[in-house]
Amino acid sequence: MCGIIGYIGERKASEVLIEGLRRLEYRGYDSVGVAVNKKDEIEIRKAAGRIDELNEKLKFTEIEGKSGIAQTRWATHGEPNDANAHPHTDCSGEIALVHNGIIENYLELKEELLEKGHEFKSETDTEVIAHLIEEELKKNRSFEEALRKALLKLKGSFALAIIYSKDKEHLYFVRNESPLVLGVGDGEMFAASDVPAFLAYTNKVVFLDDGEYAILSRDSFTVKDIKTGKEKKKEIKEIEWTLEMAEKQGYPHFMLKEIYEQPQAVRDAIYGNAGNIDQIAREIAAYDKIFIVAMGTSYHAALYGKYLLQRLAGKVPIVEEASEFRYEAGNLIDERTLIIAITQSGETADTLAAIKLAKEKGAKVLSIVNVVGSMATRLSDLVIYTHAGPEIGVAATKTYTTQLTVLAMLAIALGKQLKSGESAYLTKLNKELQRVPDLIEEVLKHESSLKDLAEVLKDKRDFFYIGRGVSVPTAFEGALKLKEISYIHAEGLSAGELKHGPLALIEDGVPVVAIAPSGKLLEKMISNIKEVNARRGLIISLGNSESLRSVSDIFLEMPEVDELLSPIVYVVPLQILAYHLAVLRGNDPDKPRNLAKSVTVE
Ligand code: GLU
Repeated sequence: MCGIIGYIGERKASEVLIEGLRRLEYRGYDSVGVAVNKKDEIEIRKAAGRIDELNEKLKFTEIEGKSGIAQTRWATHGEPNDANAHPHTDCSGEIALVHNGIIENYLELKEELLEKGHEFKSETDTEVIAHLIEEELKKNRSFEEALRKALLKLKGSFALAIIYSKDKEHLYFVRNESPLVLGVGDGEMFAASDVPAFLAYTNKVVFLDDGEYAILSRDSFTVKDIKTGKEKKKEIKEIEWTLEMAEKQGYPHFMLKEIYEQPQAVRDAIYGNAGNIDQIAREIAAYDKIFIVAMGTSYHAALYGKYLLQRLAGKVPIVEEASEFRYEAGNLIDERTLIIAITQSGETADTLAAIKLAKEKGAKVLSIVNVVGSMATRLSDLVIYTHAGPEIGVAATKTYTTQLTVLAMLAIALGKQLKSGESAYLTKLNKELQRVPDLIEEVLKHESSLKDLAEVLKDKRDFFYIGRGVSVPTAFEGALKLKEISYIHAEGLSAGELKHGPLALIEDGVPVVAIAPSGKLLEKMISNIKEVNARRGLIISLGNSESLRSVSDIFLEMPEVDELLSPIVYVVPLQILAYHLAVLRGNDPDKPRNLAKSVTVE
């Protein structure tokens, strides 16, 4: 998830671009780059680092020229270093482009291009696009046609801004499953990942749809369909956001915005790993002594990983909080041990200590991380990226659902290698995983009823979240979300554990959130719910069976989804509920008291 921007008009492009990037920095901040179309050539300045410090060094705003493109990067492929910073160019240097998204088939394309003699300067997936266009241009096509032909070869998500040194009068933009919006000025045109980038100049916008590209000149824009090349009619809209609202895309808090970004984040997690997950599974398939270590929300993802690895791959991993593991597990680790470390930031102190300990003992380390190039990725033998993009709200939302997604992919890939007898079911599950982003979209449509529910519950003192099997981690995560941002006491439990103690706390009206997808443990879950009914607890259940509805005080109907993947969908209403409870109680959900985003101290 990067921020990209393009400008063509009468102003000094570099200044407009850098100012726009500052407004997009929330989308990524690994590196910065600018390309400006000058009289005879394209000038590019780029490096790893933050905008302001780099502007001092590279003096982006000194570049003269009236059209250009720029990006602030959030790396997905290749470390955040100078060479990987965007813009990227073809061999001739005549084409420069910036990209937001993931090119799923880039390895395959890169191999073909290497065979044809193209030389690559970065490790990014993005660079293939510039060379592909160059290749198509050799066939005597117009630039536009070469671009379109190249786009047809790409799989994955991409928003692109492109300049061509032989056509200074135009800028080219593309949108496919990554955001892009045009800004229509008077004698000048803009395009960017998000409106705030150019809102200081114009509030007239054209939202591009997936599968469209646009050609901008100073005073006109044309939008066409990638598949057919035919022109499409687009409406200009006037928006009335303030800059601050626009940065959060109209959402009052980053947390809510990030909750809504989950369908896309999960899609990116799938795209971003489709090409490498089998290889990673092959490299770890032989390990039988497996620890999964993590903290906080990532620890709940670890528990989900355990259930899936057990059920799908016959592995029996031990899940440990990294803060415990680092002092307890030293003597248990050797070269035959696999450590799976899960950390959003890749900088969590306890998890890094666990990784270092594992490395000292010769174990193999696979880490699951969101931030490319972070410490955990540098210390590990293997890395799976979650591709959630930057998360600004302190409470993890999209980084959790993407962790679950990649764990599901890993367990399915391992299962395929180790349990060939179940390949039909695993293939079905894999297909179902592709539908999960749509299912999350469906759940998001119910935000207003969850807000009403929050109104009913806002003065409750204690909450309990219960689940069984694969839903136990969801119960833990639902409770954690609630306590960290609303400051209401909440406990997550496996439902079977209720009558071994916690049931003593259930009395009239105490909310018990039951996570009960249809599956092998639903009947057991219903018995547990009845135990709560008998004590007059208030049952709020999530599921889709009539028998569940009949024992619930409040029933939240969920879309049908395989039980093993249900945690990725079922956690979403719990995030929304916690969010609204926090807001109703007057808290800032983006900055909960006493907490920080990444815990880099022990
Ligand atoms: N895949 C590109 C890169 O790694 C763009 C990243 C993104 O949009 O998140 O540089």
